[in-house]
Amino acid sequence: MNNVTIIGAGLSGCEAALQLADLDYNVRVYDLKPKELIEPYKLTSYAELVCNNSIGNINEKSPMGILLKELKLFGSKILEVAEKSRIDDPAFFAVDKRLFSQLVTEELCKKKVKIISKHIDSLPCDDNVIIATGPLTDEFLISSVVSNYGINIFHFSDSSSPVVDIRTVDLYDDCVQKVTNDLYAISIATQDFQMFYEELVHWSNQNVVHSIDKRLKYEKCQSIEQLAQIGIDELYMQRFKHEYTDQPCLLLRRECGLDNGFILVGCMTTLGHFAQLSIFSKIPCLRKCKFLKYGRMHRNTFLDAPKYLNEFFQIKGTNTFVIGQISGVDGYAPAVASGLVAAMRIINGETMPPIPTNTMIGGLARYVSNKKVIDFQPMCASFALVDESDQDIEETILNYQSQIKNKMR
Ligand SMILES: Cc1cc2nc3c(=O)[nH]c(=O)nc-3n(C[C@H](O)[C@H](O)[C@H](O)COP(=O)(O)OP(=O)(O)OC[C@H]3O[C@@H](n4cnc5c(N)ncnc54)[C@H](O)[C@@H]3O)c2cc1C
Repeated sequence: MNNVTIIGAGLSGCEAALQLADLDYNVRVYDLKPKELIEPYKLTSYAELVCNNSIGNINEKSPMGILLKELKLFGSKILEVAEKSRIDDPAFFAVDKRLFSQLVTEELCKKKVKIISKHIDSLPCDDNVIIATGPLTDEFLISSVVSNYGINIFHFSDSSSPVVDIRTVDLYDDCVQKVTNDLYAISIATQDFQMFYEELVHWSNQNVVHSIDKRLKYEKCQSIEQLAQIGIDELYMQRFKHEYTDQPCLLLRRECGLDNGFILVGCMTTLGHFAQLSIFSKIPCLRKCKFLKYGRMHRNTFLDAPKYLNEFFQIKGTNTFVIGQISGVDGYAPAVASGLVAAMRIINGETMPPIPTNTMIGGLARYVSNKKVIDFQPMCASFALVDESDQDIEETILNYQSQIKNKMR
């Protein structure tokens, strides 16, 4: 049982592939790339971070910081590579996306993972199959999964942030603070933030929302216009409250691979181009800035996981695994975590105990397989997932690894 086929060389698929190849599994990975690139993928290399170049907040008291710490303790291969492509941001684990993807691709080659560029539209047969095709998985593959396993699939819509040319931002304005070469913090005066908010509400009231997006509300990754509809305080607390100033603050982080490109951190939006220009022009130092990329809306596909998956991201009673965004975890780091857990299950077999639920990884694995969850929605790292415990994370993970006889390198 040493053959594994993985469909999708994204974050989750690459984590699983690298873990398995490390233990000499015969790993075959199918990906559309480089022959076919669908929006929003831009790189022909694998493990592409499609939007933000931050994998998460590194504060070890935050849910994401805890998840990143656990991934490191478990020996995540993706995080090892991410370390080598890190850029200077004191608060976030941010990377040069192009370098990161290139290094992961090199690592796959070094480990002799067989990568085949092919559009998979029906499930292949193998000792173990892992589906890791991400949030934009197309209808053909979905139909195959549905007919093989009778699985329900959901969709919802999600949005991404704009990128601006830093040379066109007024960096001499007093409100701009250079935190590092890769990060600027822009303080926004109260009256300007009020105008920004009102403009956002104005345009979001005019925005025609596709019926599917109304039906499939999703709280974890809301656009700034959705937050503005809740109120100015919500907008501030969720996206414009940062440690660099007491005022509302917008962060601009380097978007490597786009010359002079800096992403407007957390400003995911689904509004039209003209609306984006008009809204961001309310922030004085952005008044004349040039947009290299506008924020946009995309489909996000996930399955009704609790009905079908166990806590190893495995379709119950089969050797097929579903990992990454399509399994109902949300975000880069959770995708990596799901790939890690599936690989561990293949390596350790049926006797592997579930990952302890006082860890974020164990909490996520339990969430996607928890039959009690009604109206299942994708989930990022959250304290709500984790059981309280007196044991610290290092100790828990060390104990767990000794239980599974530490079969990961
Ligand atoms: C536009 C967009 C922006 C996002 N922004 C963020 C963000 O800023 N932060 C964040 O944490 N999360 C973000 N996400 C959500 C999610 O975390 C990422 O999509 C993450 O990369 C998911 O990892 P994954 O392994 O599930 O899939 P992906 O990393 O997307 O990888 C899927 C891979 O499967 C391949 N593939 C797809 N279909 C097929 C097929 N039929 N046959 C063969 N290969 C196939 C693709 O080419 C791709 O390489 C975003 C998602 C999207 C779509």
